[in-house]
Amino acid sequence: MSFFVVDIALPVPLLRTFDYLPVEGDSRENYQPGQRVRADFGRQLLTGIVLGTREHTEVPHNKLKPLLARLDDEPLLTHTDLQLARWMSDYYHHSLGDVLEHWVPTLLRRGADLSEADENGWLRLAAADAEPALRGTKQLALWAQFQRQSYIAHRHLTAQGFSLAQCRKLAELGLIKEQQRLPVPPLPESVRPALTLNDEQQSAVTKVTGVLGQFKACLLEGVTGSGKTEVYLQLIDKVIQQGKQALLLVPEIGLTPQTVRRFQERFDVPVALLHSGLNDRERLQGWRQAREGHARILIGTRSAVFTPLPDLGLIILDEEHDGSFKQQDGLRYSARDFALVRAHQAQVPVLLGSATPSLETLHNALTGKYLHLKLTRRAGNARPPGMKLHSILHQPLVHGFAEPVLSAMQQHLNRGKQVLVFLNRRGFAPLLACKQCGWNAECRRCDARMTLHQYPPHLHCHHCDYQQPIPSVCPECHSPDIEPIGQGTERIEEQVSALFPDTPVKRVDRDTVRTKQAFDELFDEIHTGKPCILVGTQMLAKGHHFPDVTLVVILDSDAGLFSADFRGMEHSAQLIKQVAGRAGRAESPGDVWIQTLYADHPQLNLLIDDGYHALALSILRERMDQQLPPYSHMAMLRSECEDRATAQRFLEQARHILQHWLKQYGQKDAPVTLLGPVPAIMERRNGRYRFQLQVFCSERKALHQTLDAALKQLQTLKGFNKVRWHIDVDPLDT
Ligand code: ADP
Ligand code: ZN
Ligand code: ZN
Repeated sequence: MSFFVVDIALPVPLLRTFDYLPVEGDSRENYQPGQRVRADFGRQLLTGIVLGTREHTEVPHNKLKPLLARLDDEPLLTHTDLQLARWMSDYYHHSLGDVLEHWVPTLLRRGADLSEADENGWLRLAAADAEPALRGTKQLALWAQFQRQSYIAHRHLTAQGFSLAQCRKLAELGLIKEQQRLPVPPLPESVRPALTLNDEQQSAVTKVTGVLGQFKACLLEGVTGSGKTEVYLQLIDKVIQQGKQALLLVPEIGLTPQTVRRFQERFDVPVALLHSGLNDRERLQGWRQAREGHARILIGTRSAVFTPLPDLGLIILDEEHDGSFKQQDGLRYSARDFALVRAHQAQVPVLLGSATPSLETLHNALTGKYLHLKLTRRAGNARPPGMKLHSILHQPLVHGFAEPVLSAMQQHLNRGKQVLVFLNRRGFAPLLACKQCGWNAECRRCDARMTLHQYPPHLHCHHCDYQQPIPSVCPECHSPDIEPIGQGTERIEEQVSALFPDTPVKRVDRDTVRTKQAFDELFDEIHTGKPCILVGTQMLAKGHHFPDVTLVVILDSDAGLFSADFRGMEHSAQLIKQVAGRAGRAESPGDVWIQTLYADHPQLNLLIDDGYHALALSILRERMDQQLPPYSHMAMLRSECEDRATAQRFLEQARHILQHWLKQYGQKDAPVTLLGPVPAIMERRNGRYRFQLQVFCSERKALHQTLDAALKQLQTLKGFNKVRWHIDVDPLDT
C-alpha cells in the first residue's frame, strides 16, 4: 500500500492543521474531507475533521502517529461546510479546528453516532384495517392508535398510559415492531390564515420575493409593531412553496413561546428549534431534522447559523442590531455577518430586520449595498408611543421618581392600565457605603463595586460572580452607619410597592426569572391585563409585547450618554427605543417618560423628537469624521494577566510586531492606526489586569494580512505563558 497521511483539523488553539497516519488497514479511498476521526494529541483524545489526504508531509516519519479511529464512513460535513469554516477561520484568525466545532453538535463531537438523535418507537406492520384478535380494552385502545398512525414514538405512548408490556404484546402478534427513528417536529392542528398586508409590507414582500434564488442583503427597517414579523411569515411561505427551507435567527431572549407559536401556527410544515434551553440530544435532533430536510423552517439563536440546510432558500435575522448575535468568547464571530457570507455562498437573500438597525447595517443600506425596505407605520393604524424627557436636575425625587412621573403612573393605574418601570440594573443597590468614613464595598478581584442584594441578603460582584456576606459595621471605621446608595430593581420594587400599596408589583430580571418557564408564567399573568406595575431590566425590553402597558418610565439611562465606548450612544438609543416599543396597542399607544439629568442633551433630544433614524444619521456623521466603524475596519487585541506589567508588555510587543508587518502590507492610501495599549475600561477583573490594543484600517485586506502575519509571530513569543490574549475582529465592546 502506498504511503499517505491524513490532514486533519483539531480543536486546539494553534493556527495550523495536523498530519496523521491512517487508521491501520485503511486505504486512501476510505478518507474523505468532512469525516470525523479520533486522534491522540499530546495527552488528549480529540475528535478532528478530515480535510484531505497527501503523499508528502513535513513531519518526520518517526514522529507520525496513526489515527485512533475513523468515526464516519460518509462525510459528516459537506464541502460547503468546510469552505465556510475556512472563511471563518481566516476572517476571525481563529483555529480551523475550533471553528469546525461550531458545525458539529456536542454529542457528535464526543464521538456519538447520528442515530443518537433517534427515538425509540413502534412501527405498524399489519394493515390499518386488520382486525386482530385482541383481548382487553387497553390493547384495543393501543391498536386503535396504530390504526391512525403508522409510527408512534414510545414516549408518546407512555404519556398516554400505555406500558412497554402492552406494546410487546402487539409486537408478538406481528402487528407492530420496535424501531428507532428521528422524531419529526409535530404539525399544527390547523393553519392560521395570513393577514392582508399594507402597502409597505406588500412592497417589502414583493421586493424580497423578486430576489429569491440569488444573493441579496436586505434591511427591513420598521418600528416595533410595524408588522415586520408578518413580512417574515409571508416570505417564508413563498420560500416553502418553492420547496426550500427558511432559517430564522432571533436573539436568545427573543425566542419566546409566543414567537415560536406564531410561526408554527402559520405553516403546515415541520418547524425545528435550536436554542440554549435544549439538552444535547434535543440539539442533535433539531440539527438532524434541518440537515436531512425534514424541518422546512429552522428557528434558532446565534449558533443555529451553522446548521446545515440542504435546501436553504432564505435567511432572516430579526433584531439584527442585537448584541447577542456576537459571540463574546472563544471564536468571537458575528452571526449576522456570517449569515451574509452563508447567504452569499448559497446564493439566497438575507433579510435583516430591526426597529433600530446597527449603524453598520444602516450604512450599507444607505449606500445602496443593501436593499433598504421600510415600514414607517405601526400595523393596523396604531399610533406610535409619545416619548418625552423629564428633567430631574435640581428636582426633589421620591424614591428616585420625580413627582410628575409618580402622578402620571397613578393616572394610568386609575384608568385600569399597566405601568412599566425600566432600570437596567439588578440587585438592591449598586453601592454599599459608610457614611462616616466613605468606605464602600469593592470587589477584591475587580475594579468594581459589589452590588447589594436583599433577596437573599449578600454582596455580589456582577463581573466575576464573587459573593460575600453584608458587613454589619464598616470594616474600616467600625461605624454601624453603612447604607445602600443608588437603586437597583429590587429596591425599586420595594419602593414602588410602598408608594402604590394597592397595586401588584412584578419584578422581571435575571434573579426573579431564572427559567423560560418562569418568564412564561409571569407573562401569562401580566397578559390578563389587570393593573400592575412591572419593574425590570432589559429582560423586559426584548421579545415580549405588553399590550396593556400604557406608560413606560425609563429611570437612569444617563450612563449610556457619556460612555467611553464609541458605540455607547448607539446602544443606549436602541435600548430606549426597544423598551418604548414594548408598550401599548392600536387604540392606546402609550406614553414613554425618560427621567434624565441631561434633558438638553442634543442627541437624546434628536432621538425623542425625530426618532432613531435621525439620530443614527447624526452618529454616522460623527463616525465618518473620526474614521470609526463603519467607515473603517477594526480589530482589537486584548491581553490579561495577574501581573499588570506583563499584560501591558505583551501588547507593547504586539504593537511592535504589528508595526513591522504594516510596513509590508499597509498602503499609503489605507493607513493603519494603532491605539494603545491602554487599560481596559475595567482594568482589573477577576484578579487579572486587562489591556487592549485597537487596530483601525480603511482597507480590510491590509488589516487582515497584517493581523495574519502578526498573529503567527505572536503565537511564538516567549515569556508570556501567563498571559491570556485574543483577537477580536469587528469588536462590539470597545
Ligand atoms: P413587528 O414584528 O414589526 O414588531 P408584528 O408583525 O408583530 O410587528 O405586528 C404587530 C401587530 O400588528 C401584530 O399584532 C400583528 O398581528 C399586527 N399586524 C401586522 N401586520 C398586519 C396587517 N397587515 N394587518 C393587520 N394587522 C397586522
Ligand atoms: Zn467607615
Ligand atoms: Zn468581581
